[in-house]
Amino acid sequence: MTDGPQLGFDTLQIHAGAEPDPATGARQVPIYQTTAYVFRDADHAAKLFNLEEVGYIYSRLTNPTVAALQTRIAALEGGAGAVCCSSGHAAQIMALFPLMGPGRNVVASSRLYGGTITQFSQTIKRFGWSAKFVDFDDHAAVAAAIDDDTRAVFCETIANPGGHISDLDAISAITDAAGVPLIVDNTTATPYLCNPIAHGATLVVHSTTKYLTGNGTVTGGCVVDSGKFDWMASDKFPSLSQPEPAYHGLTFAQALGPMAFTFHSIAIGLRDLGMTMNPQAAHYTLMGIETLSLRMARHVENAQKLAKWLNDDPRVDYVTYAGLASSPYVGLATKICPKGAGALFTIAVKGGYDACVKLVDSLEIFSHVANLGDTRSLVIHSASTTHRQLTPDQQEAAGAGPNIVRLSIGIEDANDLIADLDQALAKATA
Ligand SMILES: *Cc1c(COP(=O)(O)O)cnc(C)c1O
Repeated sequence: MTDGPQLGFDTLQIHAGAEPDPATGARQVPIYQTTAYVFRDADHAAKLFNLEEVGYIYSRLTNPTVAALQTRIAALEGGAGAVCCSSGHAAQIMALFPLMGPGRNVVASSRLYGGTITQFSQTIKRFGWSAKFVDFDDHAAVAAAIDDDTRAVFCETIANPGGHISDLDAISAITDAAGVPLIVDNTTATPYLCNPIAHGATLVVHSTTKYLTGNGTVTGGCVVDSGKFDWMASDKFPSLSQPEPAYHGLTFAQALGPMAFTFHSIAIGLRDLGMTMNPQAAHYTLMGIETLSLRMARHVENAQKLAKWLNDDPRVDYVTYAGLASSPYVGLATKICPKGAGALFTIAVKGGYDACVKLVDSLEIFSHVANLGDTRSLVIHSASTTHRQLTPDQQEAAGAGPNIVRLSIGIEDANDLIADLDQALAKATA
């Protein structure tokens, strides 16, 4: 089977990367539960280690089950290659690692998954990297924040927690002009709702923990490379454009062309950072992806119905869903995510902190968890949980004030979800 872009999304999500097993003919992708692979002879081993021949050496680097998933996600995103890793957060480090160095910075949207804000504002400082946070609705501010030490620009397609949409066309025009790669976290949109590469992204990162797996079973991440960035155009990316001392002087961009980033991520990123996805996790995610388009269509349909119902309810002050006609992002949603504005949004509940806590405790179908993108509907009150450590000002800036509840809409019967919200809002605002 050819995995070309001529095949439709619904076909690729089932078939891309999944040839019948060459050893047994197994139709489903086998779980290759092995650490190592026998070399044909010493010459074969030497060629593999030299990247002259592509094959399997050791499962910290590559594994056939994980490789099937990588091929599938790359096909769905329209990328040249992809590397899976142990979590979404690992994917973010894997994406930045070949680009950054001590003293270098990433210009990042101020609207990001809470864990990413912590990773970027605190943890990466230990590598000598830093992040500059900017409002990505203000394109002039994004352009102004890029300086000589900037090595990447980072945003989410549909941003957490409020479901705001990033104008990827406008932002990629800025990063193109500056000669720096644009990294887009496409977790909340998934390749079904948006292909960031088609809007100019260089790299796409995913937490496969969420919609791609879809049922809350395993953590995982993925970095997809568009294969389109010219690493040789400047001296900003020496790991890719100059002889790499960590790989016996190989110049990745010269030797591997559009696969340079992907091979660097395997040969050096996974080899030395070791944030590997295991084959069991890849198996669960391969199963999940088979139904991605069906699930996402329902997620969006339910989110649209619930957002409208909540928006019309007097117990709710406002709803941030970009699919609502009243949303300032509705135009961008049509451009960037024409099949729907995702299934994640926040609501402002009349009655503030106490009403929100009561709402969360009164919901019966919605689960109160720190997760999103499950088949199940999920809810969290950020101010009393994930954003508890922040000051009131920081909570407001993050869209997580005391009166805000975040909903991740599942694929249950929408009428049941509305009834659940109705009874819980009644208790919360009594
Ligand atoms: C969950 C999430 C992450 C982090 O992924 P993990 O798999 O939990 O490490 C990053 N970005 C977004 C948008 C997420 O939802």
